[in-house]
Amino acid sequence: MNKGQKCNQKLQWRGLWKMRCPYCCKTPLLSSWFSFQHGCPSCDFRYEREIGYFTGASWMVMFPIVALIGFAMAATLLILMPHLDALVVAAICSIAMVGVGILVMPFSMALWLYADHAIHPLNEDDTYDKELVN
Ligand SMILES: [Zn+2]
Repeated sequence: MNKGQKCNQKLQWRGLWKMRCPYCCKTPLLSSWFSFQHGCPSCDFRYEREIGYFTGASWMVMFPIVALIGFAMAATLLILMPHLDALVVAAICSIAMVGVGILVMPFSMALWLYADHAIHPLNEDDTYDKELVN
C-alpha cells in the first residue's frame, strides 16, 4: 500500500468540505455529481470498503437531513401561508426534497467516509486495486 503523506487534522476538515480523499486530502471523491471515485490513486485508499458500504450514508446521514429540511420547509410554508392545504404543502415539500436529496447525497457519502475513516483508519485490506475497477 502506497500510503503517501497523510494530511493533518485541520486539512481533513477542509478536505471533507471540498470532498477530497480522507487520507491524503488531495484526490477528489467525486468523478461527477452522481458518481463516487472507486479509490484514491495518490494513496491507494479504496473508498467503498465493502459491498453496500455507502448504504449507511443514505440511512444515517442523508435521510435525516432531508427529512429535517422537509419538515422545516413545511412548517415555514404553513406559517407563512396558512391558507394552503396540507396536501399541497406535502406535495411541494416532497418534490423539493428530491432536489435536496440530490444536492445532499455526495456530502452525506463524504461525511460517512470521513467518519468511518476516523473510527477505522486505513489497513492493508483497503488498498485500491486500479486493475479491478478499470
Ligand atoms: Zn488519498
